[in-house]
Amino acid sequence: MTAASLEVREVSVGYGPVRALNRVSVDVPEGAVVAVLGGNGAGKTTLLRAVSRTLRFHGGTISSGTITFAGQRLDGLTPDRVVAAGVVQVPEGRQVFARMTVADNLRAGALGARGAHRGRRAAAEARERVHELFPVLAKRAHQRAGLLSGGEQQMLAMGRALMARPRLLLLDEPSLGLAPQMADRIAETVREINARGTSVLLVEQNAAIALRLASSAVVLEVGEVALSGPAGELAASDEVRRRYLGVA
Ligand code: ATP
Repeated sequence: MTAASLEVREVSVGYGPVRALNRVSVDVPEGAVVAVLGGNGAGKTTLLRAVSRTLRFHGGTISSGTITFAGQRLDGLTPDRVVAAGVVQVPEGRQVFARMTVADNLRAGALGARGAHRGRRAAAEARERVHELFPVLAKRAHQRAGLLSGGEQQMLAMGRALMARPRLLLLDEPSLGLAPQMADRIAETVREINARGTSVLLVEQNAAIALRLASSAVVLEVGEVALSGPAGELAASDEVRRRYLGVA
């Protein structure tokens, strides 16, 4: 299979004795935006870490199941090989290199680019696209990243990930802590990134935003898939409306 689709099959994850995911399956077809909803501690971040293989940095391990992207098994790869396979995570809380300039943050992102996307020329092209998406990053290229606003740091974190030219972007809570207007802008950019050909697996506490962007979604509850289906159906379900959309 060559299509750049992600298939997470029956994946279980533990942090030592703590079971964080139990036989979770999710598909991200090529070109899709798929949302992962769920309350605090449901396992959303863990799912992204399992895919990006950064789980090991947090003391977690996959105890069973498989993760495949574009026909290639990701479980068992190192995080840098996952990036090289075209799958890049934007971590929660942004985590930009605060003491480095905006330009250097973007340069760091290009180091993970794969194959034909490597090298100076490719990095310059990627930077141009990132600047098109986020003009403020061009304006502030020589400022320290730590001086940016929260929303701008989120843009930088996304821009840095895009420098590796991902085929699939793993986005963890991009709207967290942002004012509604900025959250909407970030959502618009996610749409734009997707329209340019990158699939997205989106973890979002803000279910209203997530279900607007996504074609399908899964709801995690205590590490298990409680609901899944087309975003429109989930948005209309009483349970999702009551629990995640705040509609009585
Ligand atoms: P949140 O929105 O609060 O980040 P989440 O849905 O992303 O929640 P996870 O962060 O994936 O949930 O956490 C799932 C479970 O795993 C929780 O019970 C959490 O306490 C536990 N957990 C997460 N990270 C670790 C870790 N590094 N070590 C031990 N347990 C962890």
